Amino acid sequence: MRIVLLGAPGAGKGTQCKNIVAQYGLLHLSSGDILRAERAAGTELGTKAQSYMDSGALVPDEIIIEMMTEAIKKAPSAAFLLDGFPRTVNQAVELAESLAGNEMKIDFVLNLQIDDGVVAKRMTGRRSCPKCGAVYHIEHLKPKVEGLCDNDGAELVQRPDDCPEVVANRLKTYHQQTEPLVDYYRNNGTVYDFDADRSPDEIRASIFEKLDALVKT
Ligand code: AMP
Repeated sequence: MRIVLLGAPGAGKGTQCKNIVAQYGLLHLSSGDILRAERAAGTELGTKAQSYMDSGALVPDEIIIEMMTEAIKKAPSAAFLLDGFPRTVNQAVELAESLAGNEMKIDFVLNLQIDDGVVAKRMTGRRSCPKCGAVYHIEHLKPKVEGLCDNDGAELVQRPDDCPEVVANRLKTYHQQTEPLVDYYRNNGTVYDFDADRSPDEIRASIFEKLDALVKT
């Protein structure tokens, strides 16, 4: 099974990806995570990506396409979930070509739908622990002591790309460059839509219900 998960930034893709890969034994390939790891390791690719990421813009297609097609080729399993990639029609076309070269294709596209206002509130309230990576929310998932991580007491921080100006820019980028991708996939396969303005458990249940039905057919 090869899946692409689409949705605006802040729609809850990360959480649902964890659920899906655990349930169906897929490999999780997240372009955002790979880029953050490259940055943390101080590689040339990470340095190139830095300014785009911090301003909420997309990293240029040629960098991302090479990075992700390599990650897919090196993957130990041909059953994977793509998270954050593709993000432009051009990336999707190149991905399809690269997969076709290995007699593979994307089987299902899952699309998390949510309004900008809900996303903006979710993302600007997000705080994370710089030590262990735990994620909190100032309204919905408060730490026991305000501003401090429950696991190790470290002071919580806001990811630079979760601050209000950057969130607004990421949403604009999403509508301009990534939304056309939903239509591309509607015309080139099957897209399943999910209402993402619900609790993570409710979203997970409806995704599992759909995937269980698809796997059976
Ligand atoms: P994410 O964690 O998926 O929201 O990604 C964080 C940032 O990494 C994005 O705001 C982009 O700057 C960059 N990025 C991640 N995936 C892609 C992609 N497929 N194409 C271009 N830029 C990307």
